[in-house]
Amino acid sequence: MQLILLGAPGVGKGTQAKQIGKEFSIPQISTGDILRSAVHENSELGKKVKAILESGQLVPDDIILDIIQKRLSQNDCQKGFILDGFPRTILQAQGLDKILSQMAIPGIKVIEIYVDELEIISRLTSRRVCSNCGRDYNLRLNSPPADGKCLKCGGIIIQRSDDEEHTIRKRLKVYREQTEPLIEFYRKKKKFYRIDGLLPIDEVFLQIRKIITQK
Ligand code: AMP
Repeated sequence: MQLILLGAPGVGKGTQAKQIGKEFSIPQISTGDILRSAVHENSELGKKVKAILESGQLVPDDIILDIIQKRLSQNDCQKGFILDGFPRTILQAQGLDKILSQMAIPGIKVIEIYVDELEIISRLTSRRVCSNCGRDYNLRLNSPPADGKCLKCGGIIIQRSDDEEHTIRKRLKVYREQTEPLIEFYRKKKKFYRIDGLLPIDEVFLQIRKIITQK
């Protein structure tokens, strides 16, 4: 079972990808998480991409495709995987097509989660995240504890630096210009589905599960 979750930042891709991964015992592969942990570890990759992440721009396609090629060749991806935040450009989508054909994977399913921009800005400015384990919180829906410590691991809950409003607006512009064209790219390939991301989280999950389990 292979799946791409497409959609602007803040539509809930990460939340859904984690739940699906758990339910189907397959890895959730988030290029954003991989890049953030490289920054956290201050690795060579992290040093290269830190400023790009903070600016809300996209990391170059060759770096991203290299990360994905290596990640998909790992054993845990043999049964399937969920791509979250990748691909984000036509070049990345074409690169992914090549990787999938090398892996003999035909017709990956693509689900777009759609939410309008005003709601996204409101969601992302109220998003908080554990600096240690990455668990998501939201001031509107799922408030962090008053002591600011993660319920799961006790780590400190922070606001991602790219979740400040001016950076969010930049990320949405980047999405419109560079990622939205992927919707047409995948629509032509048939296994494309669209879900209303304003529905409750559990309802979005049920709809995704239905799509995944149908032939
Ligand atoms: P995300 O957590 O998916 O919103 O990603 C956070 C940031 O990581 C983005 O704003 C980009 O700077 C970078 N990034 C993540 N995935 C990609 C990708 N597929 N291509 C280029 N840049 C990416």
